[in-house]
Amino acid sequence: MTRQAILDFLTAPSANELFERALQVRLRTKGNTVFLRGLIELSSICQRDCLYCGMRHSNCNVKRYAMQDDEIVACAKLARQFHFGTVVLQAGENAALWTRERIVRLIQRIKAESGQKVTLSLGERSEADTAAWKEAGADRYLLRFETSDCTLFAKIHPGAVATDGHPRLAQLRRMKAQGYEIGSGIMLGLPGQTLRSVVDDLLLFRELNLDMVGLGPYLKHPQTPLGQSNKPSEVPVSVDFTCRCYALARLLLPQANIPSTTALSTLDPAQGRIRGLTSGANVFMPNLTPAHYREGYQIYPDKICVVAPEADSLTALYATLEALQLQVQEG
Ligand code: SAH
Repeated sequence: MTRQAILDFLTAPSANELFERALQVRLRTKGNTVFLRGLIELSSICQRDCLYCGMRHSNCNVKRYAMQDDEIVACAKLARQFHFGTVVLQAGENAALWTRERIVRLIQRIKAESGQKVTLSLGERSEADTAAWKEAGADRYLLRFETSDCTLFAKIHPGAVATDGHPRLAQLRRMKAQGYEIGSGIMLGLPGQTLRSVVDDLLLFRELNLDMVGLGPYLKHPQTPLGQSNKPSEVPVSVDFTCRCYALARLLLPQANIPSTTALSTLDPAQGRIRGLTSGANVFMPNLTPAHYREGYQIYPDKICVVAPEADSLTALYATLEALQLQVQEG
């Protein structure tokens, strides 16, 4: 697909044809199945100061927490009971709290005690860390590059290790070579983001040969510098635009696993999930973080499932999947 064709799809008055094409490709590559992956948000104690994220170090209003290893393993066992074949361990970036050795032990315990695949999402880490985790049995790593526009990335993500180009791309390429399935993605609607940069992002998904693509609307958090900025974006924050990007990601990477993200459901709690799953997405990531911690993990405001107990939201999720005639597949 050419750059111009992608740009045309992003800006056409209607995207119905695009969604239909993406749905057909998803049916061909994934059938009528959906993967459910249990998300465990290990901690909200973050050393970084990303300008967009509510959990940033300088935000003193965050309820900071860190789960204990036993609690994390208990969540993985819960995921096993729900037949989720994968757990995703995500956290604010903190290498002192989540040391190489501690994550090795956690991976080994989850593999031994509940037996799922393990996806890590612990931010920017060293080659030696990710190698040790792979060796311990980690299967996948999620690290969004957020935007391929290096100048914009540097502005909203202070303190990145100085490298030529984009620091997260280097880590993604390294992890691919280490044998991980790699996932990455972007936020849509960042102040200063251009439509052309989103075309670059989409093409980069294919160039990186991503196994997973996670993307969602950027949602302003009032207690962040970016949330207080009035700088416009060329990129709309909307369900329609987000779904166009799911559909294009599906056409560019027919085999990729693409979650319908929590940010999309937050933008439209009633329809977001369904719209995502009918425009190319094939994964959903129910939140398994214990309810009393969730308030602390507000990367953006009004994040859905912050108060809903797991069982309720799962019942609603299964009803949605049934209505869409989608079957859950373990993996
Ligand atoms: N510390 C980890 C996990 C961060 S949270 C890391 O940096 O990889 C996971 C994702 O949430 C981020 O990659 C980002 O794309 C998204 N996110 C953060 N703040 C957001 C906001 N205000 N609106 C929408 N998505 C946001």
